[in-house]
Amino acid sequence: MGDAPRPAVLIINCGSSSVKFALIGVRGEVLILSGLAERLGSPEAGMTWKIGAERAARPLPDADLVTALHEMIGILPGDVQVVAVGHRVVHGAEEFSRSVRIEAAVLAAIERCNDLAPLHNPANLAGIRAAQKVFPTIPQVAVFDTAFHQTLPERAYLYPVPYDWYQTDRVRRYGFHGTSHRYVASEAARRLGRPLESLGLITAHLGNGCSATAIEGGHSVDTTMGISPLEGLVMGTRSGDVDPSLHEYMAARRGWSLERIMRALNRESGLLGLSGVSNDMRTLTEAAASGNARAQLAIDVFSYRLAKSICGLSAALSRLDAIVFTGGIGENNKLVRLRTAEHLKVLGVALDPARNETNGAPPTGLISRDGTLTCLVVPTNEELMIARETLSVLSS
Ligand code: ADP
Repeated sequence: MGDAPRPAVLIINCGSSSVKFALIGVRGEVLILSGLAERLGSPEAGMTWKIGAERAARPLPDADLVTALHEMIGILPGDVQVVAVGHRVVHGAEEFSRSVRIEAAVLAAIERCNDLAPLHNPANLAGIRAAQKVFPTIPQVAVFDTAFHQTLPERAYLYPVPYDWYQTDRVRRYGFHGTSHRYVASEAARRLGRPLESLGLITAHLGNGCSATAIEGGHSVDTTMGISPLEGLVMGTRSGDVDPSLHEYMAARRGWSLERIMRALNRESGLLGLSGVSNDMRTLTEAAASGNARAQLAIDVFSYRLAKSICGLSAALSRLDAIVFTGGIGENNKLVRLRTAEHLKVLGVALDPARNETNGAPPTGLISRDGTLTCLVVPTNEELMIARETLSVLSS
């Protein structure tokens, strides 16, 4: 007699020419498989994946999204049964304050958000439509990056621009990385052994994109990203906050179009622009250690601006119990955490060098000294959060 198939949730995160996927077993929330199909639509298209510790790769010349998803089914372990598909969707605007089961009206509402995320939402929609073709009988759920931040109060989400920009053109701050901020907040509460409802937290998600969020009682009350993921912290290639008059100034100085300036702010700025070395913090840390002054400068600006934003976000909270670091940089880069902490003495932050050195003392991930403001390193797990959301939507 064979064992019953293992139920699992498939997580799909679709970009313009790539799709990241992960399969999470419902029992025990185990990561069964994760992978990436990229350069879709080109002769170089291919898929890489990992099952347990085993890695594999396969070229898929000229494959489109549907072909890639079919290929992905081919590599799923035979004893696994996909019971639901969870899609990461970047922008839900004010249409979505929670995850939803996907049906025709939901697709139309996501489409209405396309203007606000012209690079991301159409790709997410294409992923949903492809998955509906490939898994026509399996329920699908959309999980939005913006939904967690729909609890921001007006004073935090409105820009001080003419009010009718908000009314007519939906100009406001939305915030992103909501799935990650929400996950690490609940994980931090669990690790601290305190109810999330009782805590004031600031979570810093520092990956290629970076954002920080003030969370009170489990609700996002302010965040650094705005109408788009360009606002706020310094990022790998994104500038974060700049004076908006830069557009006019650089247009006049260099005769650049708006598109050219936006490309500079999105793709040529941040750590890459400042350092002239790399957008990758690991490379920059190594370069700084071997004496590259511009790499050091980029790390300094990154850390100082992060600290400044954390201080700003503390104004949104009635209490601050802990600062939580996550994302590739937040989880792994002791230098950035140390530099940031040096600018946060005013909040009572002091890191414990030994705890910081090991990326947090187990089991809590504590990096602060006893008797100072609690600082934790908590690895994010967006796929797991999307899987939980997917199952929770389907069971409600
Ligand atoms: P994404 O936002 O694309 O998910 P990640 O969360 O993986 O990206 O973060 C990428 C960033 O994390 C890069 O700047 C990378 O250098 C940094 N990073 C990842 N691992 C380490 C490490 N072991 N040490 C220092 N930095 C790291």
